[in-house]
Amino acid sequence: AKDRGKGHYVCYTADMGQRIQDAADLATQLAAAVDNAELSVVYQPIVRLGTGRLLGTEALVRWRHPRRGLISPADFIPLAEETGLIVPIGRWVLGEACRRAAEWWRDQLAGHDLVMAVNVAGRQLREPGFVADVAAALAESGLPARCLSIEVTETAVFDDERAIAALHALRDLGVMLALDDFGTASSSLGLLLTCPVTTLKLDRSFVESITTVARQEAVAMAVIQMANALALNAVAEGVETVEQAALLRGLGYRYAQGYLFSPPVPADEAAKLWAGRQPC
Ligand code: C2E
Ligand code: CA
Ligand code: CA
Ligand code: CA
Repeated sequence: AKDRGKGHYVCYTADMGQRIQDAADLATQLAAAVDNAELSVVYQPIVRLGTGRLLGTEALVRWRHPRRGLISPADFIPLAEETGLIVPIGRWVLGEACRRAAEWWRDQLAGHDLVMAVNVAGRQLREPGFVADVAAALAESGLPARCLSIEVTETAVFDDERAIAALHALRDLGVMLALDDFGTASSSLGLLLTCPVTTLKLDRSFVESITTVARQEAVAMAVIQMANALALNAVAEGVETVEQAALLRGLGYRYAQGYLFSPPVPADEAAKLWAGRQPC
């Protein structure tokens, strides 16, 4: 039994060593990914509940690794944050999303102002040049600031004066600010006092079983009531069924995102969606 234990141990460390090596390799490859055009951006519609009309889209980065295929942002964004690669990657995503949104905005695809939501990591927010990068992306693309929504998570801004100062500077530029995954961190409510947010995004974990779990419905209701009281927009994330959409609408949610309406799609497909929304 001892031998087996020892053998197990050796096997375990070898595996760990391999994993560390893999992570290091991945970091090197990620560094090259921007230059090699392996990154792309897909767009997920944010719709108006009831009419299904598009409010805008959220830009989500994708990495097509030459050998491993598609790697989820959930797997490489943390690595990008650790290595600082999130700064050039994020700058590229922002530029790409603003160019695309400006194109749609100029073509009047929405028939009204559209929202382009871009995710930003804490590391980016704390970068001294970040606000200037956003201003440059707007100026270069010609996208009006009110059409850009920067999405940050609670943990990215919690207790960080530099990040909160950046948020104020962004609001001064006129961009919208969404608190992403709202309700999943412990600091949510305090942040509503210190951060100039315009939008709350109800996390998918409160939507998942909303039709069967009374507590999820209660939380969703509390969030929309609070959003209304604070005059904030609210977007429900991860809506997958008509039942969820109907319930959220009944609670007073006006905007939602999720596979029910559309998964994230490439830019040319997103452009087509502007034309033909079916009411849901
Ligand atoms: P997020 O910002 O909360 O984005 C929503 C995620 O939920 C996306 O995953 C989206 O594809 C997925 N989703 C949308 N609707 C549904 C649904 O109905 N059901 C389910 N199960 N999932 C749904 P994705 O694209 O894999 O992104 C994961 C996370 O990676 C994002 O979560 C965001 O935190 C991060 N991320 C993605 N792109 C970027 C980026 O450009 N910059 C930064 N900093 N983070 C990014
Ligand atoms: Ca987001
Ligand atoms: Ca989210
Ligand atoms: Ca999330």
